[in-house]
Amino acid sequence: MSTFIPLCVPFERRSEAAAGGASFDQIEKCWLCPADSLLQVLPFVPYRYRPDRKPPFIRPWMVPQALWGRNLRALLEPDDWKHIRKDCYARAGSRCRVCGRRGPQWPVEADEGWAYDDKTRVQTLKGVIALCPDCHAVRHWGRTIATGKHDEALAWMEEVNGWTRAQALECGNLAMEEWHQRSRFDDWRCDISWVERHYGVKATARGAALAIERNRDFVAQARAQFGDVNSAPKGSGYLQHLINER
Ligand SMILES: [Zn+2]
Repeated sequence: MSTFIPLCVPFERRSEAAAGGASFDQIEKCWLCPADSLLQVLPFVPYRYRPDRKPPFIRPWMVPQALWGRNLRALLEPDDWKHIRKDCYARAGSRCRVCGRRGPQWPVEADEGWAYDDKTRVQTLKGVIALCPDCHAVRHWGRTIATGKHDEALAWMEEVNGWTRAQALECGNLAMEEWHQRSRFDDWRCDISWVERHYGVKATARGAALAIERNRDFVAQARAQFGDVNSAPKGSGYLQHLINER
């Protein structure tokens, strides 16, 4: 019997999915496609199942300390951010673009995809994608560690990437190291021109002020929990150290 893969099908493209051999499962409330026919519905296939992609499909992607709080939620008018989020969910058929699943309480969350230029120290928005809460927790590694949920997130990285625990730990430690390197600088800038190109909206002056205020609060909270960024434990083995402490 063939295995069926969940697809991310936007409502207005359901006829394309059907033409490619997918069918809608009324019980699961999901478009499904046999695992051996994925090439015909490739745009809808979650990354972990795409035959043209290799792991890691999900990995931590930490925001340098100087940029904490400078996100679309703070920078944009609330209605603009709401519109972008809803559009991102609709484009994925309210399923996780990485694993195809939905969360138990709410199906998906919007994740901002940032690229980092370590020379110019500019963080550039590349897009916003829908992720299930488990995949999102891996991306927001710092918050996941701070709330003591790294064991679950490591297990999810193993499952989705087909990794061993050692591979997941190594990836988490590398992300932490990279975060330490980037967080040594306080002159990072943030480029969200992607939202202007795609949605015609911009950061507001109120949003920029709010982002600065949030950054101050988040940094103060992190200092209270972990100490200063330069004195916090770093390098490989950090996560293992945290896990052993529990
Ligand atoms: Zn997911």
